[in-house]
Amino acid sequence: MKIRNPRTGKTDYEIAPLSGETVTDIAQQLRAAQTGWAAKTPEERGAILLQWADAIEVNLGTIIPALTNDTGRGGISKIEAAGVPGQIRRWARTAPQLIAEGQPADQPTSVPTITTSTELVPYQLAGVISPWNFPMTLALIDAIPALMAGSAVLIKPSEVTPRFIKPLMATVEQIPELAAVLSIIEGDGKTGAAMIDQVDYVCFTGSVATGWKVGESAAQAFIPASLELGGKDPMIVLASADPETAAATALRASIVNTGQACQSIERVYVAREIAEPFLASLTAQAEAVALNYPDINKGHIGPFIFEKQAEIAQNQIDDAVRKGAKLVTGGAVENLGGGLYLRPTILTDVPPDSNIIREENFGPVIPVVIYDQIEEAIAQANDSIFGLSAAVVGGSVTEAEQIASHLKAGAVSINDGSLTSMVWEAEKSSFGYSGLGASRMGASGLMRFFRKRVLIRQSGEAARIEAFAEENF
Ligand code: NAD
Repeated sequence: MKIRNPRTGKTDYEIAPLSGETVTDIAQQLRAAQTGWAAKTPEERGAILLQWADAIEVNLGTIIPALTNDTGRGGISKIEAAGVPGQIRRWARTAPQLIAEGQPADQPTSVPTITTSTELVPYQLAGVISPWNFPMTLALIDAIPALMAGSAVLIKPSEVTPRFIKPLMATVEQIPELAAVLSIIEGDGKTGAAMIDQVDYVCFTGSVATGWKVGESAAQAFIPASLELGGKDPMIVLASADPETAAATALRASIVNTGQACQSIERVYVAREIAEPFLASLTAQAEAVALNYPDINKGHIGPFIFEKQAEIAQNQIDDAVRKGAKLVTGGAVENLGGGLYLRPTILTDVPPDSNIIREENFGPVIPVVIYDQIEEAIAQANDSIFGLSAAVVGGSVTEAEQIASHLKAGAVSINDGSLTSMVWEAEKSSFGYSGLGASRMGASGLMRFFRKRVLIRQSGEAARIEAFAEENF
């Protein structure tokens, strides 16, 4: 399978997607090694993962260039790869206590002679299927806590961005105990589909359309699934907000990483009182944004990673304009040196039935809708099949928070945007089609990989059948 380079548009890499039979073989090997892995204490597993964190850090020099070629972006690839050792260390530090707390012993019950002890039993093999927008982070975000729980893990990153797999696997192979229970494989959708039949838990990050299929396959296989899907995050800008600061926040949260983030702000609802200065500032700031072209080390936003996404973004802009929206700035995908770029694009007077309001865009596009009453803004923000996250920007945290509580979203950033990219400690649940299953954030990110086995201890006399004789009632 030939892989396109997002900066040159040329195919310069190849993968051989693994077949279903190979996936089955790998799954069996991982299962065989998992027994020993689960028998270790959480501290022992943590110590092995800490070695991996160090190995990744030492090998960033090979991982970052691969990730840069995968995604066409420089700085964010550095942040992405360099952030992984920190995530491993955080789970290695916090998991042992969470696991201890999750196994309370000798708990009293409503029956005086009966006590309980809880055991946590990890799912033997967790599968991770991940997308192309943050290839390394999203391949590992579920895998690290699953390993800490004692599961073996099979990861299939997106076929759009597979170059980082080899240098990352090289770090895994430096630690034989880890290599026995963690495999990161090359493959496409078929490989992903084959995995679902082989694992005991599936963690999927990707589009709603594929997530739906994965959910159905997981139901057929009778295994739990964590589905982390798309979003159409709204930002509400209150009349009390400072227009310039709100515009800066909306712009960054919409266009960073070329808008290719599930938690990107994709719609802005601004109060009429400040709409004019807000739009003027947003436009001026958007027009000052530079492309990372021709120099990858300069500017703010890079090319689309996936060429089909550029087409989707363009089609949505054209659809909105056809339906009466006004294009304020940007609006046309440019082919520069083979890469597909879109300058920050602002649309106003956007009809609510335009695709740009209803469907995920995943590009640096900001449709701005002006509202008169806050109830109207809340209703429009909530009028979506998605419910991943949202944002409210106002004059004070308290005021913004009052509005946030009315939004159908798993996370709401207050006086900022897209904060779920920075804060992973708190649990959240998606609304609507943005996802299903246990939260990957917070303690649940780890605890979802356990079944609970309760030992129910009778220290008195076990009841005899006579107790149930009808004559006694
Ligand atoms: P995608 O759904 O096209 O692909 C995701 C993964 O699924 C890939 O690895 C792909 O090979 C695999 N796949 C395809 N068909 C499959 C099948 N039938 N069975 C099993 N696996 C299959 O998504 P994408 O285009 O790579 O990623 C972009 C999407 O991901 C956006 O919608 C974005 O919002 C979403 N996303 C969500 C989050 C989140 O945390 N909620 C984070 C990042 C991205």
